[in-house]
Amino acid sequence: MLIKIASEISAGLVASAIVLTSSPDQAIIDFNTTPAVAGVQIESDQLLGANNWWSYPVDDDIYTYSLSEIQERNEISLTVNKSFQLPQDYIPANLVFAANFGLSDDPEIQIREEITEDLSELFKAAKVDGHDLTIVSGYRSYETQISTYAYWLNYNANDVDAADKISARPGHSEHQLGSTVDISSKAVQNQLGASFNYSEAYLWLKDNAYRYNFYLSYPQGQEVKTGYSFEGWHWRWYGE
Ligand SMILES: [Zn+2]
Repeated sequence: MLIKIASEISAGLVASAIVLTSSPDQAIIDFNTTPAVAGVQIESDQLLGANNWWSYPVDDDIYTYSLSEIQERNEISLTVNKSFQLPQDYIPANLVFAANFGLSDDPEIQIREEITEDLSELFKAAKVDGHDLTIVSGYRSYETQISTYAYWLNYNANDVDAADKISARPGHSEHQLGSTVDISSKAVQNQLGASFNYSEAYLWLKDNAYRYNFYLSYPQGQEVKTGYSFEGWHWRWYGE
């Protein structure tokens, strides 16, 4: 089964397309060939649920990476979505506390060490332009994903469809990689959701985050391709 992954044209960047197969050996997006990807989208809905854009594939069609496989690969570019899942015992090796780098006021938030430099630069540049950014969420363990998903399920009165539009099931969250952060700004009281999606800070990130190797995972209008509602706060780092 072929899956087309295409980059979005944004901020004047040139997009290029990559074709992947569902074979685990080829389930990696090679960002060396797409240095300016502004959001990764699955063009075909083949790997996502057959019925609705927010649905998961049937269990047999969900691929769970093994720990050894993850170690052999570049975790930074590993595809994690509704079709590709991280194992319960996967924890990034190099987590650090974001607060120690001045990136969050929350002393418990952890992120991968590799992303701190770019994130610091990004926050500095944002500040110059009047946006006081902070990390609201970083690394999320498999166990935390269980409770996070349960929270949103409960919040939506056990409506699975509603929860699947906005929250990843355990193992399916890019947050488990430690290279993905939820960003908000002081101007919206560090809130996520609609208040951030319509904020000036979001517009700034949309224009500038790529300069620091951060890309929006769930862009507006791409729900059918990503499987998630628009999340202007959810940014993933892909390195140089
Ligand atoms: Zn997020």
